[in-house]
Amino acid sequence: MPPLRNDCFALPPGVHWTPVDEALDMLRSRLRAVVGQEDVAVPDALGRIVARDVMATRAHPPLANTAVDGYGFAGGRGDGPHELPLLDADMPAGAVPDQSVPAGTAVRILTGAALPPGVDTVILQEDVTVEAGQVRFEGPLKQGANTRAAGEDVVAGAVVAPAGRRLTPADLALLSAVGVGRVAVRHSLRVGVLSTGDELVQPGAEARPGQIFDANRPMLRALIAQLGHVAVDLGHVCDDRAALAAVLDRAVGEVDAILTSGGASAGDHDHVSALLNDTGTMQMWRVAIKPGRPLALGLWQGVPVFGLPGNPVAAMVCTLIFGAPALSVLAGAAWRAPQGFAVPAAFTKRKKAGRREYLRARIRDGRVEAFASEGSGRISGLSWAEGLVELPDAAGEVSVGDLVRFIPWGGFGA
Ligand code: AMP
Ligand code: MG
Repeated sequence: MPPLRNDCFALPPGVHWTPVDEALDMLRSRLRAVVGQEDVAVPDALGRIVARDVMATRAHPPLANTAVDGYGFAGGRGDGPHELPLLDADMPAGAVPDQSVPAGTAVRILTGAALPPGVDTVILQEDVTVEAGQVRFEGPLKQGANTRAAGEDVVAGAVVAPAGRRLTPADLALLSAVGVGRVAVRHSLRVGVLSTGDELVQPGAEARPGQIFDANRPMLRALIAQLGHVAVDLGHVCDDRAALAAVLDRAVGEVDAILTSGGASAGDHDHVSALLNDTGTMQMWRVAIKPGRPLALGLWQGVPVFGLPGNPVAAMVCTLIFGAPALSVLAGAAWRAPQGFAVPAAFTKRKKAGRREYLRARIRDGRVEAFASEGSGRISGLSWAEGLVELPDAAGEVSVGDLVRFIPWGGFGA
């Protein structure tokens, strides 16, 4: 008997499998922020999502100033030696220049100090000699050298952090630099994580043969935390419809969204999809993606539920591809496509056209390696990987050296 082909579970003909991009467009167009807002001090706002555009209170820099320690005067200078009398004055940073510097004279000026009237050019202190009250240097020097114009970085009133932005350490510097002390941010999105399945046992507990340890819950909780949300552990439920409904009921009010894993297909034991189906809000997502299984998406008393496949590899990929952008919109963040880059492949691969494929991958020596097995049960491959290679829907064959798109975990926002 010839072995089954790897693609024996190829997409059935005649069934509409939604392309990944169409599925994402639907999430993008139909989801919106579900969390409120609060004001926090800028130093406490790291990782928070801006709720309303933040404008610069004033320009940065507020005044024209010098970029170096040196000597300021008016105008550039041509080739050859120059000599200017030095004023008996100092311009340290923070001083407010009032006194004008007469044409043809120089003033000592220190980095960050505002240019006094009459100064538009600064020469670096290392490039001059100062002797007997004279500053001497060799030209040429361009007019405006070593100075910064007022507002050259940010003009007053400019948007420095648009609504939907997740604040980075650099953003905290920018907001502070333009005088913003407090910022309106979204409440953190609370995401419940629930595992389903009779076969699951808590890691570390006694497991009978046939039972497996719950690997998805720690992974999904950690992923949610890395995506900047608050993970809420909803525990594990057996394949029991009433018990599952009770857990979902309890979660309502405690969380803003729920990720379940397992039981999301259309079988007798798939109670997540069955329960969501009863709500009348469910959509069974048959997306043209590998790895991936049908996803059950629906609302439980208004709370969005993402019914992920039980298989850990599919659960992780579906969370990164669909969950991460969806949660980010629910959290009030702007839509952000995963950011990847083209890298030569260190592997070969044959792929069916018509579906998007993601390979567990990592970069070594400037080339991207794919995990040796595409087996969707291989959690070790997830752990080995440092990101995913994304093979476009239409792609056929990949040869060594072909450019493929690698998306590091961080490119998904994780
Ligand atoms: P299901 O989607 O419920 O049909 O599960 C698909 C596969 O994933 C089965 O082999 C399950 O045992 C496995 N699985 C489901 N949930 C988990 C979990 N939390 N951790 C590890 N494997 C799981
Ligand atoms: Mg199950």
